Amino acid sequence: MNAQREATLLASVNDGLYIGGQWRAASDGATLEVQNPATGAVIRTVASASVDDGLAALTAADEAFPAWAATPARERAEILRRAFDLLMERADDVALLMTLEMGKPLAEARGEVAYGGEFLRWFSEQTAHVSGRYGANPENSGRMIVTQHPVGPCYLITPWNFPLAMATRKIAPALAAGCTVVIKPAALTPLTTTYFVQLLEEAGLPAGVVNVVTTELPGPMSEAIIADPRLRKLSFTGSTPVGQQLLTQAARGVLRTSMELGGNAPFVVFDDADLDKAVDGAMLAKFRNIGQACTAANRLLVHADVVEEFTDRLTDRVKNLVMGPGTEPGVAIGPLIDERAVAKTDELVQDAVTHGATVRTGGAPAGGAGFFYPATVLADVQAGSALLTEEIFGPVAAIVPFADEDEAVALANATEYGLVSYVFTESLARGQRMIERLETGMMGLNVGAVSNAAAPFGGWKMSGLGREGGDEGIHEYLQTKYTLTANPFQE
Ligand code: NAD
Repeated sequence: MNAQREATLLASVNDGLYIGGQWRAASDGATLEVQNPATGAVIRTVASASVDDGLAALTAADEAFPAWAATPARERAEILRRAFDLLMERADDVALLMTLEMGKPLAEARGEVAYGGEFLRWFSEQTAHVSGRYGANPENSGRMIVTQHPVGPCYLITPWNFPLAMATRKIAPALAAGCTVVIKPAALTPLTTTYFVQLLEEAGLPAGVVNVVTTELPGPMSEAIIADPRLRKLSFTGSTPVGQQLLTQAARGVLRTSMELGGNAPFVVFDDADLDKAVDGAMLAKFRNIGQACTAANRLLVHADVVEEFTDRLTDRVKNLVMGPGTEPGVAIGPLIDERAVAKTDELVQDAVTHGATVRTGGAPAGGAGFFYPATVLADVQAGSALLTEEIFGPVAAIVPFADEDEAVALANATEYGLVSYVFTESLARGQRMIERLETGMMGLNVGAVSNAAAPFGGWKMSGLGREGGDEGIHEYLQTKYTLTANPFQE
């Protein structure tokens, strides 16, 4: 029964590229295979775009742009709203598809459908609210008019870890602003994006407004698209090294860019924290998405007076996490995305142990079919361990004790990243000091998750540029024009 439902669902996802409203094979016939990380089995083979296909998609976006930009905001809003309704109707299918290609537990996939869908609803509400300004200049010699305009065709690149939400977080504000797009999902997880674009088509989106080019060779195709003067904006979510490379390419055309890059979140537990809240928060901030989130708590910094109790309580909770395929009920720890991710996670754990950390639970690959690594707690992680400076991207909680507030702040800020931090304290003044002292674009104060479509998501330092969501999100896709006219009373 389940196998049949999965097969029917997978078969309902188009295996082509979506360019100018047409589904088509790659121009050179190339394909790529999508694996289920829980089994290693190939679940679907889809087209893999060439450089020519990428440029054809940009042509389609460029040709569709004038009409889409001129479409009344209300109509654009209604398409986004219909897409939201369709997504909610098909939430179970989208969640299952995501679990099959990415591995996250079904309940979390359902959560991502809710979160990802909110960007459609939020930006459908923002669409008709883009406004300008009109007023006298200070000299009263003229009238100043400030208007907002869509930037033009955009290229959107998304990662595999949140295959739906990272796509809607870019597509929704772009369409709301009147931009057209070419989207390149990660080759590991193209099915969710393709299925979502089928929903956009069903919602009445005109041809060419959204184009999808999945490819196994993202480098050459992206470089050609970014070098093309018709492109006006690049929005990327992924690792910092790839983001840096793309920024260099984008500099040639002085493109508008938004960059949502890597993180190394500190999770700080003070001695005045409510430990129930702190342990709940750590479970969420560390083990959601099997630790494969840019917002994942990478370093758990815990005051020396409470570190033993915190570690014991966290370890008890972690030992109870069920590992297995995300489609099975009760599973909290699904597989990692691929074999490389398992090897990388284990390398970081062994390096921390060599530097003096103690394994409280987990600590070695699960072996067998699929790409599983058990939830792991490492106590007493020592300075110099690679996992303190690198993104772990796996279910490994690394605990570091600290002595006082100044040391906590110094440790928390000792990274080139600055996406998010988490702070647990019952002191209002200390919480307020942390808001001002921690160098991150976002903070969870006594909570272990911060994402919300209504919030400006984004990082400081090498975690990125720009914001997605909130009132800020749509402005990433708008450009400002200022016009001066004469004072109409002085003609
Ligand atoms: P990645 O950088 O390897 O890939 C991201 C995307 O870029 C994929 O679509 C990939 O195909 C594409 N890509 C890779 N090389 C490219 C190239 N040379 N030219 C053009 N495109 C290229 O990252 P990943 O492993 O897919 O995702 C994990 C990373 O993403 C982590 O660092 C994580 O922190 C980050 N991330 C950040 C956020 C955020 O909002 N800040 C959200 C999710 C993930």
